[in-house]
Parts: sequence; C-alpha cells; structure tokens
Amino acid sequence: MVEVVFLNINQTNQEYQKSQYLQTISLKEISTRINEHNQKANTRIDLMHYYFNSSLDFTMDEKLHLEPIINKALKLFENHFPGVTKILLVENKLRLAKVQGSLDWNFPYTLNMTIVLPQNMLKDDITSTILHEMIHLHQKKQPHFYEEIYRNSFGFEKINPEKIIITTNYENYLITNPDALKREWVIQLYDGLYLPALIYINNSHINCLFRLRESSNPGYYLAQEPPINAKSRKDYIEIIHNCKQQVDHPNEIIACIITSNISKK
Ligand SMILES: [Zn+2]
Repeated sequence: MVEVVFLNINQTNQEYQKSQYLQTISLKEISTRINEHNQKANTRIDLMHYYFNSSLDFTMDEKLHLEPIINKALKLFENHFPGVTKILLVENKLRLAKVQGSLDWNFPYTLNMTIVLPQNMLKDDITSTILHEMIHLHQKKQPHFYEEIYRNSFGFEKINPEKIIITTNYENYLITNPDALKREWVIQLYDGLYLPALIYINNSHINCLFRLRESSNPGYYLAQEPPINAKSRKDYIEIIHNCKQQVDHPNEIIACIITSNISKK
C-alpha cells in the first residue's frame, strides 16, 4: 500500500501559491470563475482569495474511502507502466487535496504534484478519474516521453504560444486548463493548421479548434475566424485515435486514451 497524504487547508493553499495556475488564468477569464456563494471574481486578488477559501480538509470517512481507490488506480497504472509509481510520489507518498469545486466547475485536476478533487465526487468510485489525474502527474515528470507521442503518434507540432494571436471575440471565452497550462500544440488538418483549445460559452465547455494562418510578421500565427467544434471534425478525431472525450489538448487526449485502455483490460 502506498501512503496517501491528504493535504489540509493550509497545505492546499500553498500548492495554489506555488503553482502557475492562478497566474495563468487571463484577466478576461477571471470573471468566468464563480465561487460557492455565486460571486464572480473581478481581480486576480479576488480570485486567489476565492481559491484559498475553497480549500477544505478531508473527513476521516473520505480518507478511508479514498485510500484503497488511490492504491487500486496506482496498481493499474503500474501494471501498464512498470516503474511509474515512484515517479508520481512525493517523499514516497501520493498527494491529494480537497476543494469546494465551483471555481472549476467541479472538475478534478492537478496542481504541481497534487491531485485536487472537488468535494462532490469524494463518495464515488473514482478509480478512473484518479488514473486520469495520475497521467497528468506523470506528464509533469516525464514531458519528453509524452511529447514524442504527440509528435509521432498524433502529428502535433509545438509552437511558441506567445506567437499565436487570436483576434476574434472568442479569445474572451478561452478557459485555462490546469493540466495543460500552455496552448502550444497545433495540428495540420487537410485544410490548414489548427490550435485545439477549451472555451466556455453559454454555460458550457466546448473543445474547439482555432484555424491559424501565418501572419505577415514572421513566426506569428493569427486566428481570425470563429473556432469550430473539435468533435465535429472527423479528420481531427481520426488523427487522435478516435478519442471522443477531452480533445482540447494532447495532455487530455492521451490521458483519456490511456485511461480507457487500462480500464478495458
Ligand atoms: Zn485531464
């Protein structure tokens, strides 16, 4: 059995402070984040306070429920990937944090080497969710291993995200994915180069593709058209091995594919 560290409120807040996540959320995006009291953040300081106030301590029942699930997920991952366990542990322990959840639409995610879980899923059998998040931890430790797959198996190319200029209004709807902080992977489809991204519009998340065109300024790319729904592009879905879950970034695509392959066995 691997020991699990259940972070307390202060330790969780330290993870938020150490991580790039809250700094990466753009100023336009801040007001899409709503806390448990239905308040919108207006400034980054508000946002940070909301996050700090959303951290929670685990109950004893939750710890007893989660510990075997973590070990089951680790064992499944280890069978698929011998040696991965020790890569995921910090001081020989796996780290979990608990949050209220509404600031991130109750999605689980990782912060540094900690898996963050919204309180509303802690009573469920979340083995495959934990496995998916463990893959994000692994991506942080062995990025080159995954980048090879993105290039060679999917055909993604890495470009400097600061050289992508989105000029449509849809820039305002972009959402920062804590497990894929940089939008730096683009893919060539038959009719052009595309940037996968996540947007939040009309109260829902959409995995989309922004078409990029080379700018007259060398090395820069412009997205000047409204994005398209990524799942409507059959050629994209085929290139990414028919992944039909989260397709907004290769970190998500591979996490979904590995999780479903392991769960099928
Ligand atoms: Zn994910």
